[in-house]
Amino acid sequence: MSIQPIRLFGDPVLVTPASPVIDFDKELRSLVSDLTETMLEAPGAGLAAPQIGVPLRVFVWDIDDELGHLINPTLDLSDEMQDGEEGCLSFPALSYETPRALRAVAKGWNMFGEPVTIEGSDLLARCLQHETDHLDGIVFIDRLGPEERKLAMKEIRESEWFGTALDSGINPTIRVSPHNMFGKGL
Ligand code: ZN
Repeated sequence: MSIQPIRLFGDPVLVTPASPVIDFDKELRSLVSDLTETMLEAPGAGLAAPQIGVPLRVFVWDIDDELGHLINPTLDLSDEMQDGEEGCLSFPALSYETPRALRAVAKGWNMFGEPVTIEGSDLLARCLQHETDHLDGIVFIDRLGPEERKLAMKEIRESEWFGTALDSGINPTIRVSPHNMFGKGL
C-alpha cells in the first residue's frame, strides 16, 4: 500500500470519464488499498481513482466511521433533495453549498468481483453522488448554479494551489485540511 499524490482541479484526468474495471485482480485490490490509505491520510471522506491519476471506475469512502469501496457503480437517486456544504480533496480548502439527492442506491461490485448494493442518505448519499461524478469526469462545482459556479471559479483562480497546478501541469500535492462538510473533502 502506498499514499499517492492527489490530483488537483486543472489536471485533465479530473474531467475525463473513467473506464470500467474489467479485471478484478491483485492490481485492483492494490488500487483500493492505495485509495483508502490516501483518503485516510488526507484526511478525506471519499476519494475516486481519477483523483490519484488512475482512470478507472473505482472509489472509496469513510463515512460515519465505516470504510467502503465500490467498483463500476450505477446510481438510483431520490427526487427529494438535500442542501449542504460540499468540498473536494482536488479543490483544497474550498467548499460550497451543493444540491444533491437526499438518498442514493449505488449498485456495483466489491474488489473481489462480488455484486454489492449500498444504500445511503444524507452524507453517504452525497458522497456516492460526488464520487460517481468523479468517474464521469464531473467535478462538484459543475453541480452549482451558474452564479455560484462563477463565484467558485473566481475563488479557484485566486487560490495558490490552482496556480501551482497550472504551472506544473500535473499533480502538485497540497496538504491542507479543507474547511467543508464534516471537515473533510470528497
Ligand atoms: Zn472530489
